[in-house]
Amino acid sequence: MIASIRPAPNPAAVPEPDIALAEKLFAELRERTGTAAGITRASYGLGEQIAHDMVRREANRLGMTCETDAGCNLYATLRTGPDGAERRPAIFVGSHLDSVPLGGNFDGAAGVLAGLAVAAGYRRAGILPPQDLTVAAIRAEESTWFGASYIGSRAALGRLEGSELDGVLRAGDLIRLGAAIDAAGGDTAALRRREAFLDQRRVGVFIEPHIEQGPALVDEARPVGIVTGIRGSFRHRQARCLGVYAHSGATPRRSRRDAALAVARLMVALDDSWFRLAEAGHDLVVTFGQLATDAAEAAFSKIAGRVDFSLDVRSQSTETLTLMRAELARAVASIEREQGVRFELGEETSSQPALMDPEIIEAFAALAERDDVPTLVMPCGAGHDAAVFAQAGIPTGMLFIRNRNGSHNPREAMEMADFAAACRILAAFCLRELRPAP
Ligand SMILES: [Zn+2]
Repeated sequence: MIASIRPAPNPAAVPEPDIALAEKLFAELRERTGTAAGITRASYGLGEQIAHDMVRREANRLGMTCETDAGCNLYATLRTGPDGAERRPAIFVGSHLDSVPLGGNFDGAAGVLAGLAVAAGYRRAGILPPQDLTVAAIRAEESTWFGASYIGSRAALGRLEGSELDGVLRAGDLIRLGAAIDAAGGDTAALRRREAFLDQRRVGVFIEPHIEQGPALVDEARPVGIVTGIRGSFRHRQARCLGVYAHSGATPRRSRRDAALAVARLMVALDDSWFRLAEAGHDLVVTFGQLATDAAEAAFSKIAGRVDFSLDVRSQSTETLTLMRAELARAVASIEREQGVRFELGEETSSQPALMDPEIIEAFAALAERDDVPTLVMPCGAGHDAAVFAQAGIPTGMLFIRNRNGSHNPREAMEMADFAAACRILAAFCLRELRPAP
């Protein structure tokens, strides 16, 4: 555990990151893992392997020490002392190298190439940071391939379930996760023993630079975002409301059990709760992403007897999620009573929020200010490997890089100038000495 981060001794000594190298590697990645329709780097598949091989090639060229773990994650380290010497916890900078099918070139890869650009800058300047700098290329972050989240980072931390290795299949070719990991050169026997390759003795801090996947930085005209936390969630993916189908003209108001109206009331009730909690300073987003009457039974002249819907509630605060669960229960009970309907919310799935380290947030803010880089301190709505590291008790930070057109599509648009601004903040951060907690 790291107690504090000393200020950089001499701000003028921060080595300029090698942005030209990153630009060249982005182009090579696009060329080798993409088509006109988009970028495809399947988890433990061909595209991801090409990306890992490229990063290893460049890291070797920079004289970094390369290691892989049982889950085939790649760690390239710029070492401060001789091999074999006792190592202090390192600064890890990284992200994932897989992509969704026909996705964009920057989601994930920007974080790994930012780490390489910073390491290459140190090499070029002929200086070493006060502690090891490890560039981490994490496997299989995109859940679209195996339907499971954060496979690589959980493997690194000994948190992958044996049942996932056997039971989870890759979309398309239906290869089992365990077989795909072994085929890529991993060691599923070690993963089954839940051996952690990384822990707090090795990882002093984990920093994930990532393109922003929403519009906040573009809207606010800021090149860099400093993430406060990754939202946790509770979801009801298959909820429904059951009323009674009846004639729309012949059924008086008092006799109606209208499922469509009931769900609409639930939406408005939770929107009111969201507004109230947000006004009181809570971080919260509430989404009814799917909403449908039964296509076979519903009709223009019928009162809806059934509506299927989904509900996705996310917040950086566990307490806020608990409050929203209570708001949901209250709203459901009162609408059921007043409308004569029944809600079946179905199974709840959930994830825990992950807060970023306050000292890292503060350090990023100070370094950005020194560089005159306008930043936005903001929550993160999407999941990232950083959440897994934070939940493992490792001090974690995230930098967002401004990006147009969202992500998971080939129109992702990150300006290299914005990427460079984030890399400079990182390079300065790496010059700070991590002090172990007493
Ligand atoms: Zn990503």
